Amino acid sequence: MSTVLETEEQQALRAAVAALGKRYGRDYMTSVVRDGAHPRELWTEAAKLGYLGVNLPEEYGGGGSGMAELSIVLEELGAAGSPLLMMVVSPAICGTVIARFGTDTQKQQWLPGLADGSLTMAFGITEPDAGSNSHRITTTARRDGEDWLLTGRKVFVSGVDIADATLVVGRTEDARTGKLKPCLFIVPRDAPGFRRSQIDMELQAPEKQFELVLDDVRLPADALVGGGTSRSGAAGSGGEDAGLLQLFAGLNPERIMTAAFALGMGRYALGRAVEYARTRQVWKEPIGSHQAIAHPLAQAHIELELARLMMQKAARLYDEGDDIGAGEAANMAKYAAAEACVKAVDQAVHTLGGNGLTREYGLASLITAARVARIAPVSREMILNYVSHQSLGLPKSY
Ligand SMILES: Cc1cc2nc3c(=O)[nH]c(=O)nc-3n(C[C@H](O)[C@H](O)[C@H](O)COP(=O)(O)OP(=O)(O)OC[C@H]3O[C@@H](n4cnc5c(N)ncnc54)[C@H](O)[C@@H]3O)c2cc1C
Repeated sequence: MSTVLETEEQQALRAAVAALGKRYGRDYMTSVVRDGAHPRELWTEAAKLGYLGVNLPEEYGGGGSGMAELSIVLEELGAAGSPLLMMVVSPAICGTVIARFGTDTQKQQWLPGLADGSLTMAFGITEPDAGSNSHRITTTARRDGEDWLLTGRKVFVSGVDIADATLVVGRTEDARTGKLKPCLFIVPRDAPGFRRSQIDMELQAPEKQFELVLDDVRLPADALVGGGTSRSGAAGSGGEDAGLLQLFAGLNPERIMTAAFALGMGRYALGRAVEYARTRQVWKEPIGSHQAIAHPLAQAHIELELARLMMQKAARLYDEGDDIGAGEAANMAKYAAAEACVKAVDQAVHTLGGNGLTREYGLASLITAARVARIAPVSREMILNYVSHQSLGLPKSY
């Protein structure tokens, strides 16, 4: 794999993470899933080595680098067969939002822990009746004295059981206009009224998905990211007014990291297929000499490489502070990587013939897993909508 677009440090990071991934790999993940456990050993070791907080500010114990580096970490762990899905959420979305918009207290309380892996944060935006239409979310916060009371429902939120808190996207009423506007709240796992039930997913992954019910969850004023404006409604740059910006700040890292997740999985599957095609022989030559087997694998490789290019572009733009440019590239990268991953996994399973469907080779379950990146955090169709409207200027159907 060529990495000429990366600095020497980034290439060294890639190699070091790949070596760590190799020590864990797919067998480790399979045993974690079988035991109903969490990949704690890998999470802790990756954190200790500075990989999980590589994007977070140095003054809070992070590496002071950016999404380019964090996406390298996730891609390489995935390529080794041991991706850490919660990296998409905890350091990438939540870490970014708190580092950019949190109050000093919130930064001190969360960032060192997110960086050294001792704290994990989940992220909840999806609602049962809103789905892809996040304008429709109804989880609402209202004031009760200095506190907030948060009520609503969320669905498909990953890792709530292991996360110390969930960053919940809700809405508050604008004191001046009466309109509902987005706000982000840090909800501790054991907050009274915050209930979770596990969704029975057809996924073989250690990270579980939850439906959440928030029933008048009482939160202190400082649970609002960025802190509140004064209760007299005076304008400020606090959490109540900055919610939309905060939300958008998390979206580009989320898409870039989902691209990294998909790329890693696609590379892992392709690697297994190539190994197999090189040695499996049922005629005179190994099956990899038949172009019907070789070409689709070559195609999968090309498409993964192309998707990485777009991911690198998105990460570069994001790290340079170009949020708008990064938005288009991050959406395209997520789309391209998810599609490349789905195709690579499909072709890998096919390359192994019957063995592609055995537990021993462990590829079949990736068919389901690969679909996650096509659906979440934003579906293939919603990205095509975004590109139709934003990039091509076509009219909207909804
Ligand atoms: C494994 C997994 C982990 C997840 N983790 C989290 C998490 O941690 N936090 C969180 O908040 N959410 C999480 N999600 C939720 C995920 O972000 C949503 O599933 C996703 O946004 C799609 O929403 P939906 O499932 O309600 O689908 P819907 O919005 O109901 O969409 C269903 C189908 O309709 C299509 N569609 C909808 N609107 C349009 C349109 N206007 N034009 C064309 N097609 C359209 C979609 O593309 C899709 O194919 C997770 C999901 C999964 C599967």
